[in-house]
Amino acid sequence: MGNLVAQHKKPAHRYAHISVILKVTERCNLACPYCYFFFGGDESYKTHPPLMGAVTVEQVIRFVKDMKQATGINLVRIGLHGGEPLLMKRAALQAMCSALRAALGDEPELTLVLQTNGVLVDAGWIDLFEELRIRVGVSFDGPPEVHDKTRITKGGEGSYAESLRGWNLLREAALAGRIEEPSILCVVAPNQDGGMIFRHFVETMKAKALSFLLPDLTHDAVPLNRAVIEGCTRFLLGLAEAWASSTERGLYVRLIDEFVGPILNDELYKRKAMLFSPSHQVCVSSNGELCPDDVIRTYSPEFAETGLTVDGQGYDDVLAHPAWRTLQAAQTSLPAACRGCEWSDICGGGLLQHRYSRRRGFDNPSIYCSSLKALYEYLTRVLVNSGCSRDDMQDRIRRLATRHEEPVAQQGC
Ligand code: SF4
Repeated sequence: MGNLVAQHKKPAHRYAHISVILKVTERCNLACPYCYFFFGGDESYKTHPPLMGAVTVEQVIRFVKDMKQATGINLVRIGLHGGEPLLMKRAALQAMCSALRAALGDEPELTLVLQTNGVLVDAGWIDLFEELRIRVGVSFDGPPEVHDKTRITKGGEGSYAESLRGWNLLREAALAGRIEEPSILCVVAPNQDGGMIFRHFVETMKAKALSFLLPDLTHDAVPLNRAVIEGCTRFLLGLAEAWASSTERGLYVRLIDEFVGPILNDELYKRKAMLFSPSHQVCVSSNGELCPDDVIRTYSPEFAETGLTVDGQGYDDVLAHPAWRTLQAAQTSLPAACRGCEWSDICGGGLLQHRYSRRRGFDNPSIYCSSLKALYEYLTRVLVNSGCSRDDMQDRIRRLATRHEEPVAQQGC
């Protein structure tokens, strides 16, 4: 184990996990125009096998074991991604997940999460999710009049009805205690009403866990996309208003809970203190090639064409590679323009994919900085109106970056 790995062992934390995205299928039954994978400019998928084979899966297992040993981190989260993972034959996905479970353990050591458009979900797939304890996220953009504009087949047909049928099967299985509650992944549409979309998911579809993804834009596109950013701000504020007035219990809304959670909950506060720790993440193409991030690979060949594979390398080689070094340096530092921002210790400058420009790399605040500030201000007002002290909240946020493993002395407001 080289010095580089030893250096990365130090920040290993009991909440840290290894993150592996497996591109188990590099084809899709839909053709959503905003899809970064097929329409983001990186067309390497055309030269990759449509499905990840059993030999590659064995190599992935060996590689993940090496990551665990090199980092000292025991928790592994594997995302089964596509394209559409359910284009894989059921027996092949069953063999893949059985091998991963046998080699890497059950929860919490290994979490398996499959991201699908829901169209192909049926009773047989539910049996498999139950048998191998696979969590499922389904991509929806909103009610049919919204969803069917963007989540379309290659012939231009909307997919809401088929996705909803799959969603309902998943929910029934969750209600019966067979699988974990499915979650919804929604790409923020700047011309839509975030409150209306939240209510559709929560009140009509009975979703309990929601993730809203801001569109994948970089600073190189900002002048073109000012209206998009302003639209995203409106969407987030509508979403937050609907969340604040919702009477549903047990909801998890990622963008909101990532802000509110650490302020109200000590356990989440301790996890958030890892904000500036380097992540140990890889994305594996169906042919076994490695890159550091599934979205950022589309920004520049330096993040896509690493020359590394799960077959040829150990995790030492990965950590020494310029692409990972660049991303880990960005993860562990605040963009210069964010210094002095009152939200910096909870925001961290935003997601890496929103910090990028060709000229400055990741040394930019999120292109959604104004949207995030508006969201944080709004949520702060909600918490203050609920009895939290603004000074206590800000003090707690300020101390986040330095707390790490320290015991939390003070309860959330
Ligand atoms: S991206 Fe904006 S809100 Fe976030 S830390 Fe930087 S300046 Fe603050």
